[in-house]
Amino acid sequence: MVRAIVGANWGDEGKGKITDMLAETSDIIVRYQGGANAGHTIINNYGRFALHLLPSGIFYDHTTCVIGNGVAFSVPAFIKELADVEAGGVPEPKILVSDRVQIVMPYHILFDQYEEERLGKASFGSTKSGIAPFFSDKYAKIGFEVNELFDEETLVERLKRVVELKNVQLRDLYHKPEINFDELLETLHSYRDQIAPYLCDTSKFLRDALKAGKTVLLEGQLGTLKDPDHGIYPMVTSSSTLAGYGAVGAGIPPYEIKEIIAVTKAYSSAVGAGEFVSEIFGEEADELRRRGGDKGEFGATTGRPRRVGWYDAVASKYGCHMQSATSVALTVLDVLGYLDEIKICTGYEIDGKVTTDFPVTPLLKKAKPVFETLPGWKCDIRGIKNYDELPENCKNYIDFIERHIEAPITLVSNGPEREAILHRTPKL
Ligand code: GDP
Repeated sequence: MVRAIVGANWGDEGKGKITDMLAETSDIIVRYQGGANAGHTIINNYGRFALHLLPSGIFYDHTTCVIGNGVAFSVPAFIKELADVEAGGVPEPKILVSDRVQIVMPYHILFDQYEEERLGKASFGSTKSGIAPFFSDKYAKIGFEVNELFDEETLVERLKRVVELKNVQLRDLYHKPEINFDELLETLHSYRDQIAPYLCDTSKFLRDALKAGKTVLLEGQLGTLKDPDHGIYPMVTSSSTLAGYGAVGAGIPPYEIKEIIAVTKAYSSAVGAGEFVSEIFGEEADELRRRGGDKGEFGATTGRPRRVGWYDAVASKYGCHMQSATSVALTVLDVLGYLDEIKICTGYEIDGKVTTDFPVTPLLKKAKPVFETLPGWKCDIRGIKNYDELPENCKNYIDFIERHIEAPITLVSNGPEREAILHRTPKL
């Protein structure tokens, strides 16, 4: 059986914690898309970790972690993160990397920086991890599958062609130093030697495991609104953030994905540029940003301040719908305890008409938020262990969200720690 944990919004919904929690009852945890660009924050008995590439299951000794073929795989980021986790006292994890995964090349990272520089104000707010150039090359069929590092003839021949092409761009478009072929080849040889022990046919491994009745957890990165097909294009990421893509990016049968848990945060936040209808500014925003998450709303990978806003039920309804969420986890609810009143965006006004359907980007640019205001609960809900013990106004806020997103909320997170989770019986 396969379960997927995915984001219903712009990412940073607190998926890391929910994954870490569900990993406890899973045999295998799989990353199937994205790369080392976004990060999960996990707080457990070993400490506080920001994971970028490693699946959240690495903290358990009963789980096997898999990096699926759909990931943008950075060998140095992988090796460094493994070393950091081990330095934090975590026992050496069991981890397998797909022999079909493609590798992020050093020049992908450079091109990401150079292109953002070139675009200046019109830039995408990329994390500059090389993800967009990586996926461009993958689909232009000039990428490198990790298995090709072991076939010297193919590697040298392809690398020559690619370096020639990249050097034209470096010289004539970006006016930057050209790639040195020999140095790059040497780097790739070192990647090959470092990664060799982890590689296998992970699709086959997963199929065999599923046949044997194992439980697999797919761990998504970012959220629906960053999906390149269904998100706020072009301010999106370069690989699909949807649970359905798990079948492709992990190489598993689509019909095995039985549960899809969409994670949504009790207010909104987004990193980077792009439409964000319920965004707030000034003092009000600074306060929410400062109090948000477990250490304020700052990116786990970049440390950049996140943009914040009130809960957007229009975006979240769409976000859960596109994920085909079978249930929803509502996170970071404890942060809102300081507010007298809480606004929720329940509609978008576009050209004088109010809609609750999430529109295409040109219309989204014109959308103005329609807010409804609910009373706050004015207390700290951290430490509460039973859903029923939450203050009435807090439960009303959750019921209100559930009605508007039209998806059953079964988990409510009231603190960053693994055990700060409340089970709720949905009303839908
Ligand atoms: P992800 O990318 O979806 O995994 O999200 P992140 O882990 O980057 O962001 C979520 C942030 O919120 C992290 O700092 C978590 O430790 C924190 N967090 C998760 N759940 C809760 C919660 O219920 N309450 C609070 N206060 N913080 C939480």
